Amino acid sequence: MTNPQGIALRFGEGRISGVLATGLGGLSLLAVLCFRFPSLLTTADLRAVYPVPLLRTVLFAALLLALAFAALSLLLARRAQLGLAGLALTGAAIALGGAWVETPDAVAPRRGLGLDWFVLDLLLLALVFVPLERAFARLREQRVLRLGFATDVAHFFASHVLVQVTVLLTMAPAALLFRGAALDGLHAAVRAQPLWLQVFEAIFVADLFQYAAHRTMHAVPWLWRFHAVHHSSRAMDWLAGSRLHLVDIVVVRAFSFLPLYALGFDERALLAYVLFVSFHAVWIHANWRFELRALSPFLVTPAFHHWHHAADAEAIDKNYAANLPVLDMLFGTYVDNAGRWPQRYGVVGKPLPQGFLAQHLYPFIAPPKS
Ligand SMILES: [Zn+2]
Ligand SMILES: [Zn+2]
Repeated sequence: MTNPQGIALRFGEGRISGVLATGLGGLSLLAVLCFRFPSLLTTADLRAVYPVPLLRTVLFAALLLALAFAALSLLLARRAQLGLAGLALTGAAIALGGAWVETPDAVAPRRGLGLDWFVLDLLLLALVFVPLERAFARLREQRVLRLGFATDVAHFFASHVLVQVTVLLTMAPAALLFRGAALDGLHAAVRAQPLWLQVFEAIFVADLFQYAAHRTMHAVPWLWRFHAVHHSSRAMDWLAGSRLHLVDIVVVRAFSFLPLYALGFDERALLAYVLFVSFHAVWIHANWRFELRALSPFLVTPAFHHWHHAADAEAIDKNYAANLPVLDMLFGTYVDNAGRWPQRYGVVGKPLPQGFLAQHLYPFIAPPKS
């Protein structure tokens, strides 16, 4: 498949229902495994706050929908593979306990993998962004299952399943650097401010450090090899931002976290910051039609970040900010192409390999940026 627009899915052919049955069946199976093996597969922090009855209801609904879509696909589709795959995954989830799956009596308080975070975040983001992109797409012909979709799901999977490792590595440099520093007075002064002000300050200082790290990733050839993975997407949508080398994730986030750690914001402000930047990072990659000119001087919009991903000559090494365009205006890297969108996305020159593993090996075997 070389067309970046991807596989065409039309109503009445049984492929949409087949994809939905496979996706919901697969996620349901993973959810059942999370219930059965929580200490191994789920994140300790999330485990502590789960509304379990609600999650079981959602799982029940997902299983019912998966079965209904599988049946519909088998009725409509000329080829039965997708419907059968959906049926097999859903059947396996039900055989392992379904929505009534038993959980162990005692759960070891250890850090497990983030499989629960993967299932919930993928489901939530798909529910929000797939309908939004269908309604407000810039490229209406681009499909949900566009070129590189499976690769980006693999990146999404890895970054979520390994979330506790990357969070630890993200925080370690700040903890090492400021170990023994007398910051209590500063922390008390920062926390004495209103929460909303702390959230704005956190966004500003973290994006300032993110700008420096991101620009360095572009400027230093051996670092660019890691960051080029993010730029290798030829189709932009809600999932494209997930394409990040794990080294890129840790390096840029660890650097952005330094001022957050040093200033010692209130935990509620940090939580609001994390929720905002997580959702915002997905949205700025979305296949989203509106330019939002009134907002664009103050907040990074999809148009702003799409130009960062553009392969058009005028936009190379521009628009580094993740949240605040003013940083690019200040440092001379701002490109504002009102009324226009990039002609194409991706890295200039030889394309990167496709596939999660090949892209993770790429920085270690590829020639540096000339
Ligand atoms: Zn970049
Ligand atoms: Zn991006």
